[in-house]
Amino acid sequence: MHTTIIDGAAVARDVLESLTLEVAAFRERTGRQPGLATVLVGEDPASEVYVRNKRRSAERLGIADHHRHLPADTTQARLLEVIDELASDDAVSGILAQLPLPGGLDATTVIDRIPWYKDVDGLTTTSAGLLARARPGLRPCTPSGVITLLDSAGVEIAGREVVVVGRSELVGRPLAQLLLQRDATVTTVHSRTRNAREVTLRAEILVVAAGIPHLIGRDDTRAGATVIDVGIHRSAEGLIGDVRFEELLGHASHMTPVPGGVGPMTIAALMRNTLQAAMLGEAIA
Ligand code: NAD
Repeated sequence: MHTTIIDGAAVARDVLESLTLEVAAFRERTGRQPGLATVLVGEDPASEVYVRNKRRSAERLGIADHHRHLPADTTQARLLEVIDELASDDAVSGILAQLPLPGGLDATTVIDRIPWYKDVDGLTTTSAGLLARARPGLRPCTPSGVITLLDSAGVEIAGREVVVVGRSELVGRPLAQLLLQRDATVTTVHSRTRNAREVTLRAEILVVAAGIPHLIGRDDTRAGATVIDVGIHRSAEGLIGDVRFEELLGHASHMTPVPGGVGPMTIAALMRNTLQAAMLGEAIA
């Protein structure tokens, strides 16, 4: 069987290109510029790289940069104050608190302080509720990026047997909801699942977000399945995923690589959310 590699970098480029035009059209129509506030606390090197990439991408699209960098010893009260300032600032369309936060800060409280219409990461309790109820709202970036990748590859979702490995609030759980909204028959596999292989072998579409390097191989997947690898791990061989990519060549029908699969789409989905938040801001004003 020929395996089609889904080129996430190319799909993300296309999405960003059309977003550039949409941002320009928004600015012309409203006379306002969408703005993104990334909030970084402390000096975690990986977080610094992620935030830099998000800001760079926003800048390329014509989205204003309202970045805030706070010291590692910032108190919870001060951080909430900053979120409140950004929440009441009309120039800020979207707010993103980069996780993880330094010890002593409570991420759930901080995230939930972001108003739902500025929640570009889609991680507040309100956004999760809107998603669970299938009501319009801002969706988490990595899961919505996965849906975009499936659509771009022409992979049918409705009515298909889909298995999501992982149930985190960031990826697995919201992704299962999004797939359900697209009429898939969804099963979630997690760390307490018995006979996980029996379940993954049923999947016509298998999305792996367990955070365990090379967890899934040929024996875990049905021939002809579409396999989306969300995992990212640094290793001696460079970046690797949760899937043993080489084993699935000639076995899967479609597959995402790591790097160059889900990763680039996540940032494109964040940019899409920022424009959507700017539109919500206009509608609410
Ligand atoms: P997490 O650690 O929060 O969650 C992992 C989930 O996998 C848990 O729900 C757990 O129950 C489940 N799990 C653990 N072991 C399992 C097993 N043996 N079998 C089945 N399920 C198991 O991780 P996360 O934040 O959801 O991220 C998952 C992976 O995706 C990580 O490698 C992370 O780096 C990566 N990630 C990538 C992007 C991206 O943009 N590409 C974004 C977010 C996360």
